[in-house]
Amino acid sequence: MKHFIEVKNILYKYKLFRGDREDFEERQALSDVSLSVKKGDFVGILGPNGSGKSTLARQLAALLVPREGTILIKGRLTADTGNYEEIRQTVTMVFQNPDNQIIGTTVEEDLAFGPENMACPPEEIDARIDRVLKITGMEAYRYKSTSALSGGQKQKTAIAGVLAMEPECIILDEPTLGMDGFLMEELEALIKRLKEEGKTVIIISHEIPM
Ligand code: ADP
Ligand code: MG
Repeated sequence: MKHFIEVKNILYKYKLFRGDREDFEERQALSDVSLSVKKGDFVGILGPNGSGKSTLARQLAALLVPREGTILIKGRLTADTGNYEEIRQTVTMVFQNPDNQIIGTTVEEDLAFGPENMACPPEEIDARIDRVLKITGMEAYRYKSTSALSGGQKQKTAIAGVLAMEPECIILDEPTLGMDGFLMEELEALIKRLKEEGKTVIIISHEIPM
Protein backbone atom coordinates (compact mmCIF):
# COMPACT_ATOMS: atom_id res chain seq x y z
CA MET A 1 0.00 0.00 0.00
CA LYS A 2 1.12 3.53 -0.78
CA HIS A 3 1.94 5.70 2.18
CA PHE A 4 0.13 8.97 2.83
CA ILE A 5 3.35 10.89 2.13
CA GLU A 6 6.16 9.43 0.00
CA VAL A 7 9.31 11.48 -0.49
CA LYS A 8 11.92 9.94 -2.78
CA ASN A 9 15.44 11.28 -3.22
CA ILE A 10 14.53 14.94 -3.42
CA LEU A 11 16.97 17.70 -4.13
CA TYR A 12 16.23 21.40 -3.88
CA LYS A 13 18.29 24.53 -4.51
CA TYR A 14 17.16 28.11 -4.00
CA LYS A 15 18.05 30.66 -6.62
CA LEU A 16 19.48 33.87 -5.19
CA PHE A 17 19.14 36.57 -7.83
CA ARG A 18 21.75 39.32 -7.90
CA GLY A 19 20.25 41.45 -10.62
CA ASP A 20 18.46 40.23 -13.71
CA ARG A 21 17.03 36.79 -14.47
CA GLU A 22 20.31 35.39 -15.74
CA ASP A 23 22.41 36.54 -12.82
CA PHE A 24 21.91 34.23 -9.85
CA GLU A 25 23.67 32.03 -7.38
CA GLU A 26 22.26 28.73 -6.16
CA ARG A 27 22.01 27.54 -2.58
CA GLN A 28 21.39 23.89 -1.93
CA ALA A 29 18.83 23.31 0.82
CA LEU A 30 17.93 19.62 0.41
CA SER A 31 19.95 16.77 -1.01
CA ASP A 32 18.80 13.16 -1.45
CA VAL A 33 16.03 13.30 1.15
CA SER A 34 13.65 10.36 1.38
CA LEU A 35 10.93 9.62 3.92
CA SER A 36 7.48 8.21 4.20
CA VAL A 37 4.65 9.06 6.55
CA LYS A 38 1.58 6.96 7.19
CA LYS A 39 -1.84 8.45 7.77
CA GLY A 40 -2.29 9.31 11.43
CA ASP A 41 1.45 9.26 12.12
CA PHE A 42 2.97 11.73 14.54
CA VAL A 43 6.36 12.71 13.14
CA GLY A 44 9.15 14.91 14.42
CA ILE A 45 11.73 16.47 12.13
CA LEU A 46 14.79 17.63 14.03
CA GLY A 47 17.89 19.42 12.85
CA PRO A 48 20.02 22.51 13.38
CA ASN A 49 19.22 25.89 11.84
CA GLY A 50 19.80 25.95 8.12
CA SER A 51 19.52 22.17 7.73
CA GLY A 52 16.53 22.47 5.39
CA LYS A 53 13.58 21.70 7.70
CA SER A 54 11.40 24.62 6.58
CA THR A 55 12.28 23.89 2.96
CA LEU A 56 11.17 20.28 3.40
CA ALA A 57 7.91 21.46 5.00
CA ARG A 58 7.23 23.78 2.04
CA GLN A 59 7.86 20.83 -0.26
CA LEU A 60 5.39 18.60 1.61
CA ALA A 61 2.73 21.32 1.44
CA ALA A 62 3.40 21.74 -2.30
CA LEU A 63 4.47 25.37 -1.86
CA LEU A 64 7.77 24.38 -3.51
CA VAL A 65 8.50 21.46 -5.81
CA PRO A 66 11.71 19.42 -5.90
CA ARG A 67 14.34 19.96 -8.61
CA GLU A 68 15.05 16.24 -8.55
CA GLY A 69 13.18 13.33 -7.00
CA THR A 70 9.48 13.05 -6.28
CA ILE A 71 6.91 13.69 -3.59
CA LEU A 72 3.60 11.87 -3.59
CA ILE A 73 0.77 12.97 -1.30
CA LYS A 74 -1.95 10.30 -1.28
CA GLY A 75 -0.43 9.03 -4.48
CA ARG A 76 -0.49 12.43 -6.21
CA LEU A 77 2.65 14.06 -7.48
CA THR A 78 3.33 17.52 -6.00
CA ALA A 79 5.17 18.54 -9.17
CA ASP A 80 1.95 18.26 -11.16
CA THR A 81 0.25 21.70 -11.01
CA GLY A 82 -3.14 20.03 -11.51
CA ASN A 83 -2.75 18.51 -8.02
CA TYR A 84 -1.87 21.75 -6.20
CA GLU A 85 -5.31 22.63 -4.96
CA GLU A 86 -6.04 19.20 -3.56
CA ILE A 87 -2.62 18.74 -2.00
CA ARG A 88 -2.62 22.17 -0.38
CA GLN A 89 -5.94 21.34 1.23
CA THR A 90 -4.65 17.96 2.40
CA VAL A 91 -1.31 19.06 3.86
CA THR A 92 -1.15 22.54 5.35
CA MET A 93 1.61 24.13 7.33
CA VAL A 94 1.82 26.65 10.13
CA PHE A 95 4.80 28.83 9.27
CA GLN A 96 7.73 29.37 11.55
CA ASN A 97 6.72 33.01 12.00
CA PRO A 98 2.95 33.35 12.55
CA ASP A 99 3.12 36.96 11.31
CA ASN A 100 3.60 35.51 7.83
CA GLN A 101 0.41 33.52 8.14
CA ILE A 102 -2.06 35.95 9.68
CA ILE A 103 -3.75 38.13 7.09
CA GLY A 104 -7.11 39.09 8.59
CA THR A 105 -7.59 42.30 10.56
CA THR A 106 -9.61 40.45 13.20
CA VAL A 107 -9.19 36.88 14.43
CA GLU A 108 -12.59 35.91 13.03
CA GLU A 109 -11.78 37.38 9.63
CA ASP A 110 -8.45 35.60 9.59
CA LEU A 111 -10.00 32.23 10.42
CA ALA A 112 -12.65 32.69 7.73
CA PHE A 113 -10.09 33.26 5.01
CA GLY A 114 -9.08 29.62 4.38
CA PRO A 115 -12.60 28.13 4.31
CA GLU A 116 -13.80 31.09 2.17
CA ASN A 117 -11.11 30.26 -0.37
CA MET A 118 -12.38 26.70 -0.39
CA ALA A 119 -15.86 28.03 -1.20
CA CYS A 120 -17.40 26.87 2.08
CA PRO A 121 -20.94 28.15 2.70
CA PRO A 122 -21.18 30.90 5.39
CA GLU A 123 -22.95 28.69 8.01
CA GLU A 124 -20.23 26.09 7.61
CA ILE A 125 -17.51 28.75 7.97
CA ASP A 126 -19.15 29.99 11.14
CA ALA A 127 -19.32 26.48 12.58
CA ARG A 128 -15.68 25.86 11.73
CA ILE A 129 -14.61 29.13 13.37
CA ASP A 130 -16.52 28.20 16.54
CA ARG A 131 -14.84 24.81 16.57
CA VAL A 132 -11.25 25.95 16.00
CA LEU A 133 -11.54 28.83 18.49
CA LYS A 134 -12.62 26.27 21.07
CA ILE A 135 -9.87 23.76 20.22
CA THR A 136 -7.19 26.44 20.51
CA GLY A 137 -8.73 28.15 23.54
CA MET A 138 -9.08 31.42 21.63
CA GLU A 139 -12.86 31.98 22.04
CA ALA A 140 -12.36 35.26 23.87
CA TYR A 141 -10.37 36.71 20.97
CA ARG A 142 -12.83 36.17 18.10
CA TYR A 143 -13.48 39.88 17.47
CA LYS A 144 -10.05 41.14 18.52
CA SER A 145 -7.64 42.81 16.16
CA THR A 146 -4.89 40.43 15.06
CA SER A 147 -2.28 43.17 15.43
CA ALA A 148 -3.05 43.39 19.15
CA LEU A 149 -2.33 39.71 19.83
CA SER A 150 0.68 38.47 21.78
CA GLY A 151 3.17 36.09 20.15
CA GLY A 152 1.51 33.03 21.70
CA GLN A 153 -1.97 34.20 20.68
CA LYS A 154 -0.75 34.75 17.14
CA GLN A 155 0.69 31.26 17.07
CA LYS A 156 -2.64 29.84 18.26
CA THR A 157 -4.54 31.92 15.69
CA ALA A 158 -2.24 30.64 12.95
CA ILE A 159 -2.87 27.05 14.09
CA ALA A 160 -6.63 27.70 14.29
CA GLY A 161 -6.54 29.14 10.77
CA VAL A 162 -4.94 25.99 9.42
CA LEU A 163 -7.37 23.76 11.34
CA ALA A 164 -10.30 25.73 9.88
CA MET A 165 -9.31 24.33 6.49
CA GLU A 166 -9.69 20.83 7.97
CA PRO A 167 -6.53 19.35 6.44
CA GLU A 168 -5.67 15.69 6.94
CA CYS A 169 -2.10 16.59 7.77
CA ILE A 170 -0.79 19.60 9.64
CA ILE A 171 2.85 20.65 9.72
CA LEU A 172 3.96 22.86 12.58
CA ASP A 173 7.24 24.60 11.80
CA GLU A 174 9.04 25.43 15.06
CA PRO A 175 5.79 25.94 16.98
CA THR A 176 7.52 26.30 20.34
CA LEU A 177 9.79 29.14 19.25
CA GLY A 178 9.63 31.84 21.92
CA MET A 179 6.96 29.99 23.92
CA ASP A 180 6.91 29.88 27.71
CA GLY A 181 6.12 26.74 29.74
CA PHE A 182 2.40 27.44 29.93
CA LEU A 183 2.03 27.86 26.17
CA MET A 184 4.07 24.71 25.60
CA GLU A 185 1.62 22.78 27.79
CA GLU A 186 -1.32 24.20 25.85
CA LEU A 187 0.34 23.24 22.60
CA GLU A 188 1.00 19.74 23.87
CA ALA A 189 -2.69 19.31 24.76
CA LEU A 190 -3.71 20.65 21.36
CA ILE A 191 -1.41 18.23 19.53
CA LYS A 192 -2.73 15.34 21.61
CA ARG A 193 -6.23 16.28 20.56
CA LEU A 194 -5.26 16.44 16.88
CA LYS A 195 -3.75 12.98 17.17
CA GLU A 196 -6.97 11.68 18.73
CA GLU A 197 -8.91 13.14 15.81
CA GLY A 198 -6.74 11.04 13.51
CA LYS A 199 -4.81 13.93 11.97
CA THR A 200 -1.33 13.32 10.70
CA VAL A 201 0.95 15.73 12.57
CA ILE A 202 4.48 16.73 11.62
CA ILE A 203 6.41 18.86 14.07
CA ILE A 204 9.60 20.59 13.11
CA SER A 205 12.10 21.75 15.68
CA HIS A 206 15.76 22.61 16.06
CA GLU A 207 15.67 21.23 19.60
CA ILE A 208 14.08 18.14 21.13
CA PRO A 209 10.56 19.37 21.91
CA MET A 210 8.27 18.39 24.75
P1 ADP B 1 15.85 25.32 8.59
O1 ADP B 1 14.37 25.49 8.54
O2 ADP B 1 16.28 23.94 8.97
O3 ADP B 1 16.51 26.36 9.43
P2 ADP B 1 15.79 26.25 5.83
O4 ADP B 1 14.98 25.27 5.06
O5 ADP B 1 15.13 27.52 6.22
O6 ADP B 1 16.42 25.50 7.09
O7 ADP B 1 17.09 26.63 5.01
C1 ADP B 1 17.92 25.67 4.36
C2 ADP B 1 18.96 26.41 3.52
O8 ADP B 1 18.29 27.11 2.47
C3 ADP B 1 19.77 27.45 4.29
O9 ADP B 1 21.06 27.47 3.75
C4 ADP B 1 19.04 28.76 3.98
O10 ADP B 1 19.93 29.84 4.02
C5 ADP B 1 18.55 28.51 2.57
N1 ADP B 1 17.28 29.22 2.32
C6 ADP B 1 16.13 29.07 3.00
N2 ADP B 1 15.15 29.85 2.50
C7 ADP B 1 15.70 30.51 1.45
C8 ADP B 1 15.22 31.46 0.51
N3 ADP B 1 13.94 31.87 0.53
N4 ADP B 1 16.07 31.93 -0.42
C9 ADP B 1 17.35 31.49 -0.45
N5 ADP B 1 17.88 30.60 0.39
C10 ADP B 1 17.08 30.11 1.34
MG1 MG C 1 13.11 26.72 9.59
